[in-house]
Amino acid sequence: MSNNDIDFGELRPALEAPADGSPIIIAGPCGAESREQVIETAAGLAEAGVRVFRCGLWKPRTMPGCFEGVGEAGLPWLREVREQTGMLIATEVATPAHLRTALDAGTDLLWLGARTTVNPFLVQEIADAATEYIKRGARVRFLVKNPVNPDVDLWIGAIQRLYNAGVREISAVHRGFSAYGAKKYRNPPQWPVPIELGRHVKGIQIICDPSHIGGSRELVEPLAREALRMGFAGLIIECHRDPEKALSDARQQLTPSDLAAMLRRLSAAPSSATTDSDAASAELAALRERIDAVDDSIMELLSRRMEIARAIGSLKESRNMPLLQRARYDSLITSRVNSAEALGLSDAFVRKFLETVHEESLRQQLPK
Ligand code: PEP
Ligand code: MN
Repeated sequence: MSNNDIDFGELRPALEAPADGSPIIIAGPCGAESREQVIETAAGLAEAGVRVFRCGLWKPRTMPGCFEGVGEAGLPWLREVREQTGMLIATEVATPAHLRTALDAGTDLLWLGARTTVNPFLVQEIADAATEYIKRGARVRFLVKNPVNPDVDLWIGAIQRLYNAGVREISAVHRGFSAYGAKKYRNPPQWPVPIELGRHVKGIQIICDPSHIGGSRELVEPLAREALRMGFAGLIIECHRDPEKALSDARQQLTPSDLAAMLRRLSAAPSSATTDSDAASAELAALRERIDAVDDSIMELLSRRMEIARAIGSLKESRNMPLLQRARYDSLITSRVNSAEALGLSDAFVRKFLETVHEESLRQQLPK
């Protein structure tokens, strides 16, 4: 499928970016557990300057028997948070019934979780329910988390279903992707995927969720810093008054004061929006020019390589020789990988690159 043709002309960010160029910060507990936990956490976050409070009511859990959220019983607590602190309140909706319950209670912002974005039937049902509210004049704002698997089309598709249903204020949340086996991150970030989303859905505001990417407290700050350096518009961060005792995602939640300290450190770090001094931009422009020149040479060389591949193809065809000559391919990879190491290129990268180039060479050699 090609998403190049989708017109998202009326798309607007779900949240207004702060006028001073600082990132949008959404924070709050993974899930509401009790009135006291919600109110106390929110008070700490409001003090830290957070303007949007996230709090899951219906928790999608991998294994049955875990804490699955307090459901609609938590809505009055969220309303209390808004009344006491002025923060916007946001929660996850995973069914049309959740959406109706949340919107009836005046929830400002809804999000689709990774396990919902992955399911087009469910997204469509939720989108259809949103249309009912929009027709009645309700304001419906959505964050769309990436699907659990790194499929950018599925992510775009979910955004498009909401957009086609009449929702205009939509932002995306990058929360990383499931992976098998032992790994550093709970959900490895695979940064090219959200970058690709931004290319296809022009102007979409993308917020990073370092809590669910990292899965542990220590990883939240380095991931948040990386995301801001890469130009993400903001962060959504899980916070709990007593993280160790949290009923879900205990390892990754921060206390409100940890968050405040982290935000102070991050604001001292370079962000795409605030620290481009003239000298730095000139240096960046010069470096980019050099990159452009190198890329041009790479393209030229690749084109020349394919030309040679086509000549080899004709020769093999006229002599009735097999297209793929395994021994030659193996020795090509080995010799290139050896010389790549001396050039500071990683084995894995060079192999992947050569495989792609070789695949295309074979395609070019096929008789037309
Ligand atoms: C959450 O935000 O608490 C959540 C369940 O996230 P995800 O959908 O990213 O797993
Ligand atoms: Mn969570």
